[in-house]
Amino acid sequence: MSAPYAAPDDFRTAVLDAGLLVASAVDGVYQLSGEFEDVLQGLQRHLGSQRVDHDAPRRWFPPVLPRAEFLRTDYVASFPDLVGSVDVFRGSDAEHKALLGDLEQGCDWTQHLEPAEIVLSSAGCHSLYATLPAQIPDEASRAEICGFVFRHESGPDPTRLQSFRMYEFVLVGTPEQALGHRDSWMPRALAVLEGLGLRPRVEVAHDPFFGRAGRMLVAGQVEAALKYEFVVDITDATGTAIASANYQQDHFGRTFSLTTGDGQPAHGACMAFGLERTTLALYAAHGLDLAAWPADVRAALGC
Ligand code: AMP
Ligand code: ZN
Repeated sequence: MSAPYAAPDDFRTAVLDAGLLVASAVDGVYQLSGEFEDVLQGLQRHLGSQRVDHDAPRRWFPPVLPRAEFLRTDYVASFPDLVGSVDVFRGSDAEHKALLGDLEQGCDWTQHLEPAEIVLSSAGCHSLYATLPAQIPDEASRAEICGFVFRHESGPDPTRLQSFRMYEFVLVGTPEQALGHRDSWMPRALAVLEGLGLRPRVEVAHDPFFGRAGRMLVAGQVEAALKYEFVVDITDATGTAIASANYQQDHFGRTFSLTTGDGQPAHGACMAFGLERTTLALYAAHGLDLAAWPADVRAALGC
């Protein structure tokens, strides 16, 4: 069966013509229409309503992350090409004058800036780990989180955004608890997406690790089946991952010094939904006219 659109460009033209997204001068950066945001908010509430851990704290993160925490995630080692670092001005009046001079001359004014104590968030759950208790309780630490993420993506595909939101269900605990969390979420995530009329296939996946060292990481991630993606067909060109179920082993336990009762580094897992991408997948599946969507889907999303 063919996808609703032949190529990413066709889908982009369609969502722009429908006014759902408004393009900026930069690929991957769009304004969202009020209707699009209403659907996205409905999706966010619907995902939240699938929670099974009713006592897990729910947290909405700002789009920035303390630089020191970001470095502990090792993201810059694996994905330097996706990172967004923030620069700020801390100069004197004289420095400001020099900055304005460079700006006027068309020179590089950013040389007068310096790295801030924050970076743009790299993944939803990265903001969580530094705020967990160092000693993870026997029943594990769970959280339901949402936050803006930045990735320096390029290209005309409107599902490949630079700034987007992730909604995640996270667990940090023993290896068994973490794997159990991920594996119990996979059928639940499939059911909730299917209930919205999407037909994702679940695939063993890998992250786009950078460079030669990254190729080894990819092999390890695939072999150990650490990551599964929920992939839908929006275009004939390539599948689009709208959600992922991840087992991070003890990576964040080690780098954030989180231990379980036996003194071992804690293991982590998260079920992550991309809110903009899933909303785009809904428009691709049901058409660009919200009024014509199946009534049960509209009811589930409250729009
Ligand atoms: P990941 O941590 O890479 O597995 O991403 C989790 C989810 O975020 C993906 O399944 C997508 O739904 C979404 N996502 C990742 N990258 C992008 C992007 N560049 N634009 C929009 N959504 C994205
Ligand atoms: Zn996560």
